[in-house]
Amino acid sequence: MSETTALLDRIQADPETGRAIPDAATGETIGYVPKQTADDVDAAVARAQAAQPAWDALGHEGRRAALLAAADAIDAHAEELATILSREQGKPLNGPNARFEVGACSTWLRDAATTELETEVLVDDGETYAEMSYQALGVVAAIGPWNWPMMIGMWQSAPSLRMGNTVVAKPSSSTPLSVLALIDVMNQALPADVLIPVVTNGAGGGHLAAHPDVAKVMFTGSTETGRRIAESAGGNLARLTLELGGNDAGIVLPDVDPQAIAEDLFWGAFINTGQTCAALKRLYVHEDVYDDVVDAVAAVARQVPMGNGLDEGNVLGPVQNAAQFEIVQELVEDAKARGARIVVGGEAAPELGANFFQTTIVAEVADGYRIVDEEQFGPALPIIRYSDIDEAVASANRLDVGLGGSVWSGDREKAREIAKRLRAGTVWINQHGTLHPKVPFGGVKQSGYGLEFSVAGLKSVSEPRVING
Ligand code: NAD
Repeated sequence: MSETTALLDRIQADPETGRAIPDAATGETIGYVPKQTADDVDAAVARAQAAQPAWDALGHEGRRAALLAAADAIDAHAEELATILSREQGKPLNGPNARFEVGACSTWLRDAATTELETEVLVDDGETYAEMSYQALGVVAAIGPWNWPMMIGMWQSAPSLRMGNTVVAKPSSSTPLSVLALIDVMNQALPADVLIPVVTNGAGGGHLAAHPDVAKVMFTGSTETGRRIAESAGGNLARLTLELGGNDAGIVLPDVDPQAIAEDLFWGAFINTGQTCAALKRLYVHEDVYDDVVDAVAAVARQVPMGNGLDEGNVLGPVQNAAQFEIVQELVEDAKARGARIVVGGEAAPELGANFFQTTIVAEVADGYRIVDEEQFGPALPIIRYSDIDEAVASANRLDVGLGGSVWSGDREKAREIAKRLRAGTVWINQHGTLHPKVPFGGVKQSGYGLEFSVAGLKSVSEPRVING
């Protein structure tokens, strides 16, 4: 704990002038963050802009070395970072949670640092020679959410830095300490001012997105805020990557073995206590296996321990903040009022702490229920019965979001055929939400646009230049 305290002391603002950040599970103050303003945002962008030419001039080799050293620094401080993240965000240290998230930060950073983006020869036919290469854009604004604050911050910053941009990062006001800690550790290895955090509210984020010296905005958050960002960035024609909300559907075919898939279905929905953009948020199950799948997933749900994240026994935590907790509670209450069957959970769990909500499985629900149509973003999964696959596909596609989807079947080819009919950025087969740094990720429809990760992700934080002749 003492190294964690040293890191917290270093990043912390003066309690007299700063804002207190609560432990998500207990409400106890973990530390203080500065209350930065539009002037601070301007100063950060100016510093990042001043640092950018020298960072770019280091070239790919020089930047790669610095970024790999930053990844080593993250690994060396992994436990302190995971502890701060666990307390602030609420996710347990154990399971696919805080330690896992910190590990993903160094994994994705190393991958961005070492992925090659070659110059493409477009035509070379003796008469015409044309090639396209990718250059830094300048200053990138990285505006992030509170659910995976470090990992998503890294997804935005790592490729941007790799391509020679400098970054001004604005974490969510719900989880700024985690991101300040991560950046502090990375900055032990990076030159000054290439990665600068600013801790502001949403209005400060708007100011950053609209800043005339910001060339690109990487935004992850709600669809509603995404629209505002697009407006803010419009004046400057800043480039945008928008990773927005989702309401991922899973379709279970009648040929599955319910016991065999129950655990993967559960974690597809409940990873990070359901607070994951590309989590399974509505599950359509064929009537032949409906009762067995509901029972099997409920059996897993009953066994998975929820509680304070610092307790190694827990793998589910609280909802991160009161506003989100209220949404989860409201949607579950609405389902109850309309006659849905609560198979497991269904209530707040105040005995565990302020924003805990029991792991909840809701059966006998249908399209049109709020918990099906709206993104719950918490520990509650509606399971819907279907009899006709065409109807299930239509249900999956009927909402205006399209981040992920999944098809579950004993027959991979049959599942692939159905996967091709789903309108989503990623469709998984017999899994949901698994990500890989070499596999691009992004949404369609109101879930946003632009791709992250791999070569596609590097291109999205660069400007192409064609040389013809
Ligand atoms: P949010 O939109 O409320 O906030 C995201 C960020 O935007 C925060 O840093 C916030 O301070 C900032 N912000 C708020 N108003 C702003 C404005 N006018 N201009 C600029 N910035 C502003 O989202 P959230 O509640 O933190 O995150 C939850 C949502 O994010 C869910 O809908 C979830 O599905 C989505 N999400 C999507 C992905 C993805 O990859 N597609 C990943 C994680 C979360």
